[in-house]
Amino acid sequence: MRLLRDVPAETKDGVRIRLMANIEFPTETHACLERGADGIGLYRTEFLYLGGEVAPSEEDHFLAYAEVVRALAGQPVVIRTLDLGADKMRLEAVDAEAERNPVLGLRSIRLSLRNPPLFTPQLRAILRASALGDVRVMFPLVSTLTELRQAKRFLADAMRELDAQGVPFRRDLPVGMMVESPAAVMMIDRFVKEVDFISIGTNDLVQYTLAVDRSNSSVADLYQAADPAVLRMIDASLRAASQAGVNASLCGQMSSAAVYTMLLLGMGLRELSVPPSSIPEIKRVCRSVTLAECEAIAARCRSLDNAPDIEALLHEELQKLGF
Ligand code: PEP
Ligand code: MG
Repeated sequence: MRLLRDVPAETKDGVRIRLMANIEFPTETHACLERGADGIGLYRTEFLYLGGEVAPSEEDHFLAYAEVVRALAGQPVVIRTLDLGADKMRLEAVDAEAERNPVLGLRSIRLSLRNPPLFTPQLRAILRASALGDVRVMFPLVSTLTELRQAKRFLADAMRELDAQGVPFRRDLPVGMMVESPAAVMMIDRFVKEVDFISIGTNDLVQYTLAVDRSNSSVADLYQAADPAVLRMIDASLRAASQAGVNASLCGQMSSAAVYTMLLLGMGLRELSVPPSSIPEIKRVCRSVTLAECEAIAARCRSLDNAPDIEALLHEELQKLGF
């Protein structure tokens, strides 16, 4: 497939969609640039813990971020803080035996907040990298306002420390959160007052909304991104973000499946973050539709009451576009 690097992700009626990339390793940066990504919408940082016996140092973090930020040359890079635990790598800090239900256990932001020696070097490195380009920081799996405020306090402490040491960083570093739990959605009107952006992580949001373990193959048929309950979660998040004037993106796997693109645009998303390999196809869909068509499709989806019917409608509409 052509990479469509030099054409924008723009609908037929001229609405510009920001098509960002999800990366898991700095080496993927090249693949993003050659497909004309508008930036990195999700830089997963768990790779820093892969295989290592010891935790990465602040310098390890910094080098990994600086490489990507420099390559992106001024385009945004959203760095997500550690999302360890559950289906990601286990750490000594997490007793796997004692975790009878790791998806509901000590993972992600919960783990970071309880382990300052783990969290602070990462925040310091992100801040240092912010002096090199358009860096933004994003906290994963935030479920309560207290967690968000605690995470922001850690960030403020790291800023104070760097300041005292005369290390440059961007003082107005944008701070965002992932919307991945029903609790975050229920409280989203409050959250959007305290963040600069949100990114909807549908991989986890589907899991927690439908109470289906995303890594359990015996319930894979119940894991459905198009479930009306999930769509209502997304709708509510987008409405609150829009009312607060806060930028919203969607970075779960749902954003990389062409079948959902028209629905997501119709629901109001103007920014998607997808694996680099999916950029050309999603861009092609954006360029094949008008916003009015997408909004009509979203309205029809909202009137349906189950995922298979919504999926069938979306497949039919995608086929009409020649996909
Ligand atoms: C998500 O949950 O949608 C997400 C992007 O985060 P991850 O898949 O890394 O948990
Ligand atoms: Mg997630």
